[in-house]
Amino acid sequence: MNWINQPAHELHEALLKKKVSSRELVIAFFERINTIEEKTKAYLKLLQDEALLQAEQADQDIAKGKITPLTGIPVALKDNLCVEGVQTSCASKILKGFISPYDATVVSRLRSAGAVFLGKTNMDEFAMGSSNENSAFDPTRNPWDLSRVPGGSSGGSAAAVAASEAVFALGSDTGGSIRQPASFCGVVGLKPTYGRVSRYGLVAFASSLDQIGPLTHDVTDAAIVLNAIAGDDDMDSTSVDLAMPDLRASLTSKIAGMRIGIPKEYFIEGIDAEVAAALEQVIASYRSLGAEIKEISLPHTRYAVATYYILATAEASSNLARFDGVRFGHRTASPKDLLEMYMQSRSEGFGPEVKRRIMIGTHVLSSGFYDAYYKKGQQVRTLIKQDFDTAFESVDCILTPTAPTAAFKAGEKMDDPLQMYLSDIFTISVNLAGLPALSMPCGFTEKGLPIGCQLIARPFDEPTLLNTAYAFEQGHDFHLRRPQLG
Ligand code: GLN
Repeated sequence: MNWINQPAHELHEALLKKKVSSRELVIAFFERINTIEEKTKAYLKLLQDEALLQAEQADQDIAKGKITPLTGIPVALKDNLCVEGVQTSCASKILKGFISPYDATVVSRLRSAGAVFLGKTNMDEFAMGSSNENSAFDPTRNPWDLSRVPGGSSGGSAAAVAASEAVFALGSDTGGSIRQPASFCGVVGLKPTYGRVSRYGLVAFASSLDQIGPLTHDVTDAAIVLNAIAGDDDMDSTSVDLAMPDLRASLTSKIAGMRIGIPKEYFIEGIDAEVAAALEQVIASYRSLGAEIKEISLPHTRYAVATYYILATAEASSNLARFDGVRFGHRTASPKDLLEMYMQSRSEGFGPEVKRRIMIGTHVLSSGFYDAYYKKGQQVRTLIKQDFDTAFESVDCILTPTAPTAAFKAGEKMDDPLQMYLSDIFTISVNLAGLPALSMPCGFTEKGLPIGCQLIARPFDEPTLLNTAYAFEQGHDFHLRRPQLG
């Protein structure tokens, strides 16, 4: 049995039946990592010794019958999630030497569920980017084609799962950073409703948009992981105290009579022909499953990218003010005075995209420009949210492409930030409106690159979201394919 290609729910059965031990899984994953990591660069930090210890503990727990669906399952964590005693770099030089003093809530929830941490994954610096090329370290490559990007900013997490370097991974999504890399790498990526998952211990990029979620081989695993990490948390006042039904139990694949909306603004010129064709197939599948397909309108869609890049940068500029070289991270070598220490430490520590965002964000918040940009952005955000509220009066779920194209070539968009920003065109409205959404594999291009389909649901309706995806997945094998690597 090739364990490394299996989803968590299959491995759980194998662990229960003692066909394999968690220790054997960890060893198999590190063998895999050691062979192909040089090509993919999915990880920034490996935790082999710690993982073996966790696996031994898991095996003892299993022997005693103390088992959750994640006991002994090897997982990868995006390097903006704090793990006690381990580096959190956010793929930035400014956090050099920083060791987290505590676990993020999602991390402690996975820990108490018995999951095993293989390492911290590569990302765009501070989660700003769509290609992983903004990592201050070696950029991650797409396991389906090493000359292409894995998407971003959770590109390391998506590549690790796609390349069978982890069973599943956690990522964060501010404007698409779980869904877009999931789509580029052919895995399932789920952004929960804002407030569903605690952000405590996630290094903040844009606090009103950030949400943590899983990247998995299939929908069942997404349900299992969200079951484990979701829920109210005293450490995050934006987490919501709302009972969530068992998501796995909601995977019935019954969707007859369900109304699926297709926003006309999303099927625009500029969307790749192969992506459009794959989406047509998905729509046809849903029709044959008994869903009612309805055209809907989200009229403010065209303002979404601009609105996002005003609000996200504004929040980022204040969130990133804390990195000043004083208490932790990089400090410049021999500053003349305090001001120079701040300025030099930040100039040396942050990469170009992060600096660009801090400057835009500071500008839109500055007096004289605040009303024209930030306030206006907040107003448009409300309109975007209202578009969805109206749409959800007549449909139960919305279907769109995840990204306009499949994975693009490394280097292709690095000189043109605006082109890069446009790869989020279908994902960012969801964050502005705080909705749950996922990307699932729905086809391949002629060159063998995965294509992703995005589904969006009402706030806190993850059961419908996941079940709709599950119904499609049941009739297709896209989620079972693995890249030929190494
Ligand atoms: N690509 C978007 C950005 O660069 C989204 C990033 C994210 O979701 N973290 O901001």
